[in-house]
Amino acid sequence: MRVPFFDLKAQFSSIEGEIKAALDQVFQNQQFILGPEVEALERTIAQYCGTKYSIGVASGSDALLLSLMALGIGSGDEVILPPFTFFATAGSVSRIGAIPVFVDIDPDTLNIDPFKIEEKITPKTKAIIPVHLFGQCADMGPLLEIARAKNLFVIEDAAQALGAEYKPNLHAPGRRAGQMGDLGCLSFYPTKNLGAFGDAGMIVTDDRQLAEKIRLLRTHGSQPKYFHKWVGINSRLDTIQATILLVKFRYLEKWTGERQKRARRYGELLQDLLPSVPGFRLPTTQYQNRHIFNQYVIRVPERNRLREFLTEHGIGTDIYYPLSLHLQECFSSLKYHRGDFPISEKASEEVLALPIFPELTEDQQTYIVDRIKAFYKR
Ligand SMILES: *Cc1c(COP(=O)(O)O)cnc(C)c1O
Repeated sequence: MRVPFFDLKAQFSSIEGEIKAALDQVFQNQQFILGPEVEALERTIAQYCGTKYSIGVASGSDALLLSLMALGIGSGDEVILPPFTFFATAGSVSRIGAIPVFVDIDPDTLNIDPFKIEEKITPKTKAIIPVHLFGQCADMGPLLEIARAKNLFVIEDAAQALGAEYKPNLHAPGRRAGQMGDLGCLSFYPTKNLGAFGDAGMIVTDDRQLAEKIRLLRTHGSQPKYFHKWVGINSRLDTIQATILLVKFRYLEKWTGERQKRARRYGELLQDLLPSVPGFRLPTTQYQNRHIFNQYVIRVPERNRLREFLTEHGIGTDIYYPLSLHLQECFSSLKYHRGDFPISEKASEEVLALPIFPELTEDQQTYIVDRIKAFYKR
């Protein structure tokens, strides 16, 4: 059997007619830049995230960059973030001339450890960027408390966490990813739970002034046209992508449910390895959070050998992330060293992402689990 790490073709064939009909409308209208579909998507996503405003941009990376720009963060400012995340979280900070200041992660959730933030705050610190890694919210309660006490902005990197909820309980839903900080950044990269047919992103917020500023910054800061209040960039969400995303949004809850179902099944089927294989760990969910499982990431000390074995048996896997950001060559001037963030470094040696897309069949999943167990029986 062959199991790809990720497969978008099955999903496309299930909605092909709807997508083509919706796109045909765009081709008839020829309104490619900020057409009505972009506004419709912005309203839809703002409502879904529980925010008043949202601004469509060209990618999740640009969402981070524009958020930092809108907050006036720049040269010499410090921004706190985890070293165990996709590059864009730190790259955006560097790109605007600010300094990424890393804080190690929690060993269970792999999200930033809020209790290690305070010691890294200096007079130059301007913001914190928590990342809701793999689809589970970072521990925002204590993080927001520190931010409030120290007067710092909070930009949520919710690129992997559209629809995730922090601390829901029997009586009330939790707070949605993107809704808790000053600004929330979303990505519609094809492998995210809601994926475009190319690049796209969005910023959500309750702050009207910030929303208006970002709206200008995404079109070179011009208002009215050809009169420039700020130096912005060109970063808009394409009408074509918005149209596709509006169609796919109708299925988001269902698809996320399918991911959660597969995550539960992995948990049940892999359970018996926990006591017998030292260091074998399954993803943990904190506080009954609503985890949307953009990725299902296990941890094993012999990660590379297991990955090779699964590859030999036709199973696709991936590693998020193989090198902690403080050790990246491009950040060598920040003078971090191996050993500075031991939990992040260890995670980068142990994590292995298993296939979790909504169309993964029961047989495929059974096969994956069987092969993992076969690896440990040898
Ligand atoms: C995907 C992702 C981004 C960037 O999104 P793009 O749309 O690919 O630019 C940023 N942060 C995290 C954590 C991501 O997973």
